[in-house]
Amino acid sequence: MKFTLLGTGTSSGVPTISCNCSTCTSDDIRDKRLRTSLLVESEKSTVIIDTSPDFRQQMLKYNVRKLDAVIFTHHHFDHIGGFDDIRAFNYTSKKSVPIYLTDITLAKLKRTFFYAFEEIEQLGGGIPLVDINLINSEKFQIGDILFEPIKLLHGKLEVLGFRINNFAYCTDTNYVPPESISKLRNLDILVLDALRYTKHTTHFNLEESIEAAKLIGSKKTYLTHIAHQIKYDECQSNLPPNIFLAYDGLTFEM
Ligand SMILES: [Zn+2]
Ligand SMILES: [Zn+2]
Ligand SMILES: [Zn+2]
Repeated sequence: MKFTLLGTGTSSGVPTISCNCSTCTSDDIRDKRLRTSLLVESEKSTVIIDTSPDFRQQMLKYNVRKLDAVIFTHHHFDHIGGFDDIRAFNYTSKKSVPIYLTDITLAKLKRTFFYAFEEIEQLGGGIPLVDINLINSEKFQIGDILFEPIKLLHGKLEVLGFRINNFAYCTDTNYVPPESISKLRNLDILVLDALRYTKHTTHFNLEESIEAAKLIGSKKTYLTHIAHQIKYDECQSNLPPNIFLAYDGLTFEM
């Protein structure tokens, strides 16, 4: 199984438009962050978690040639913005792409991309073709990969993280409930939200994320959904052992 972080940036991405800060002007490629997304590949199956606004660029950059399914963590635009570009996979595979999401995320997705779920207005305007699979807290299988949803709070909003074997992906959260912590025992790799140094109402800041990482106790934790206030080299050198900043293109083979 191979996991690739296609994007590790917060909703505005890094560099952020019109910003001249030292991160946004850095030459370090680890300070270039597309919007948050994960590619999960097994021998048989290719699955993406979230279609970020950078989805098209991410599919091209990482040479993703087939897509067996998309899973959504929640409906915020930085996680669904690339939904329309699923069309490209419809064209090449001549099939719909299965999507997995909660009923709440589906309702919001339908509001943002209304045209994909309504009667077609006229022929010629391509729409993303998807098969809807509703998920909740039950495990589900896509090809040969088993996904376990992990409930997380993102401010007031309930969102999903996912565990796949001894790997877990928990972006966009500032609270991991106790029942979810018990589902995250014995991990080798945890990918966890850490937005910036100062507090935020819907994301862990660095300090809170480190605290949560210690509580969960994964062998290694990689922090994602990072804003431009965090510069890779400055921050990484001060992190505790076994906790690392993630960066775009980082892969884990397990
Ligand atoms: Zn900046
Ligand atoms: Zn969010
Ligand atoms: Zn987000």
